[in-house]
Amino acid sequence: MGTNGTGSYEIIIVGAGPAGQTAALYAGRSRIPTLVLEKGIPGGQLWNTAEVEDYPGFEHIMGPDLADKIQHHAQKFGATFETDEVVSIAAEGDDRVVRTASGNEHRAPAVIVTVGGEARKLGVPGEDELAGKVFSSDDAKEGPKAFAEKRDPRWTGR
Ligand SMILES: Cc1cc2nc3c(=O)[nH]c(=O)nc-3n(C[C@H](O)[C@H](O)[C@H](O)COP(=O)(O)OP(=O)(O)OC[C@H]3O[C@@H](n4cnc5c(N)ncnc54)[C@H](O)[C@@H]3O)c2cc1C
Repeated sequence: MGTNGTGSYEIIIVGAGPAGQTAALYAGRSRIPTLVLEKGIPGGQLWNTAEVEDYPGFEHIMGPDLADKIQHHAQKFGATFETDEVVSIAAEGDDRVVRTASGNEHRAPAVIVTVGGEARKLGVPGEDELAGKVFSSDDAKEGPKAFAEKRDPRWTGR
């Protein structure tokens, strides 16, 4: 088990979006000491999402509400959450050493990296001002929906 200034952990998870928190839920439920490091607000891209209509079990929920529910569920099983940005991960013997922007160093035998992604911009005029208003970067959901509705999938506003 690795050690650091705030505790001893067997797993360090980098990023607390839906993927990281799902990993934290299962690790915590298995009683594996787990540290989750998130540079922003737990929930990841869900904070940029208005309506979620395709998450199994929820016919309609707002992104931030789903983020809250997921975090509550993950914390219930005991994972430790800290706000910090991971700047490097290195192997040192059996340990993985995770260093953060605040100068902390955490060690554990296993690291799960779930840092998600960001939408790639088109580089067209007005993109920053109109993002989230008249078009969405959610291609996984809005693109196929636009095709089904015979709309131009590049402009997937609701
Ligand atoms: C506008 C929009 C609408 C969407 N609508 C839907 C929908 O309706 N239904 C649906 O199922 N999906 C939707 N999605 C997609 C969904 O939000 C993503 O698939 C999901 O959030 C991905 O989860 P993730 O945990 O992999 O990554 P992310 O949500 O990207 O989380 C990654 C986390 O890692 C953190 N992180 C990154 N780097 C570091 C670092 N160095 N140190 C510490 N932390 C770090 C980030 O701050 C972030 O919190 C939508 C996405 C967008 C942008």
